Amino acid sequence: MTEDAAGQLHPYDVVIVGAGIPGLTLALALRGSGLRVAVVDALAPEQAAQRSRVYALTLLTRRIWQGIGFWHTVAPQLQPFHTIHLSDTGQNVVRFRSQDGPRCRDAAPGIGYVGEHQAILPTLQAQVGATVDWYCPAELMELRRAGRPIHLHLRHQGEVKVLSAPLVVGADGAQSPVRQWAGIPTWGWGYWQSCLTTILEPQFDHGGIAYERFWPSGPFAILPLPAGRCGIVWTIPHAEAHRLRQVTPSTFLNHLAPVYGSQMGELQVQGERQVFPVRLMQARRYVATGVALIGDAAHGCHPVGGQGLNLGIRDAASLAQVLREAVQRGEDIGDLRVLRRYQRWRWPENLWSLLFTDLLNRVFSNQFWPLVFLRRLGLLLLRALTPLRRLALAFMTGYLGRPPRLNDSSG
Ligand SMILES: Cc1cc2nc3c(=O)[nH]c(=O)nc-3n(C[C@H](O)[C@H](O)[C@H](O)COP(=O)(O)OP(=O)(O)OC[C@H]3O[C@@H](n4cnc5c(N)ncnc54)[C@H](O)[C@@H]3O)c2cc1C
Repeated sequence: MTEDAAGQLHPYDVVIVGAGIPGLTLALALRGSGLRVAVVDALAPEQAAQRSRVYALTLLTRRIWQGIGFWHTVAPQLQPFHTIHLSDTGQNVVRFRSQDGPRCRDAAPGIGYVGEHQAILPTLQAQVGATVDWYCPAELMELRRAGRPIHLHLRHQGEVKVLSAPLVVGADGAQSPVRQWAGIPTWGWGYWQSCLTTILEPQFDHGGIAYERFWPSGPFAILPLPAGRCGIVWTIPHAEAHRLRQVTPSTFLNHLAPVYGSQMGELQVQGERQVFPVRLMQARRYVATGVALIGDAAHGCHPVGGQGLNLGIRDAASLAQVLREAVQRGEDIGDLRVLRRYQRWRWPENLWSLLFTDLLNRVFSNQFWPLVFLRRLGLLLLRALTPLRRLALAFMTGYLGRPPRLNDSSG
């Protein structure tokens, strides 16, 4: 048996590598399950919370967070939106409103929410608190199979520590060291575009409307934030994105004006400008004996439609349900037969979402006239037919899939 410098092996049932939002959603969803959980991250909690990113969150994410008792603490920091204003080159507007949203028992005001990483992650960290053991920051030195359990060798607080668990969850992002160690291959492709993001302060309030505008260069999203601010996610070719990140704020705003529109008056740049390359990625498997992948470790997609984090939160809730049921039946939670239940559930559902974001990006960033005709027809139908709008929204919010069963609705 391997031991750490102090001669100790730290035994757990589940070690979650990656304390981002999906990783900590899983930790919270396992609260009260009887499983001993440890969380490992390369960053200290306060460092991890510094990331500047804005997320659109779906009604299913709200329902999951309600189910694990997190919604009531995070909701005051989120901006609800009641309308999604979708357009193609500034025309053919379709408005999705609250009444087009999925009909669910806990029907919520609004059609979705927007929140900042810097607000959501610290709130989640505080709520997870002492329900798990934290190894953050820690350097993950080695993973090793020692018979059934997996041993994780970490450098933490100046010491080498060895954690042992029958299940290691890779919630460690797109480069996932856990996925690489488990030898799980991926497939996917890069796009010709990058995403430029920043936060703006408009002259007039956004009025709780989110915008998704399709331009030939790529989709452009305006996400309403608390205090009248807006986050933007602007998909444009790589070179253009890097150039616009570096120009002065006034030159940037001049370029932005035609795609943003004048509905909110004058704009001021409030946040730093960041550029992210965009990739589609799906791990060929989400599980191996003693290993499960969630969030960006398992998949990655184009940010159009704001899917990535929402999919990761669904992964976390689904895996928690599978593990809880396995515990109740007295099964080994690291057993491949148990973990495959999670894979059968999430792998195909995520694949549909990834391919849908790919299709949206390709169809709308294209000036080939038959495609232009088809998408305009599609938008006309969406505008005219409420059931079609409902169906589209149910798909984008995950309500067409199998939602995880949840414990309570304390939100
Ligand atoms: C421009 C842009 C806009 C987006 N907008 C939206 C949106 O509106 N809505 C939406 O749902 N999604 C959106 N996404 C997607 C979303 O950002 C990701 O899906 C989400 O952040 C993935 O979370 P994660 O925790 O799985 O991975 P990450 O956020 O990458 O977190 C991984 C964690 O693992 C840790 N880690 C990494 N390596 C190690 C290691 N070796 N040891 C220990 N820990 C490690 C990291 O420190 C980190 O805490 C957007 C993405 C982009 C690029």
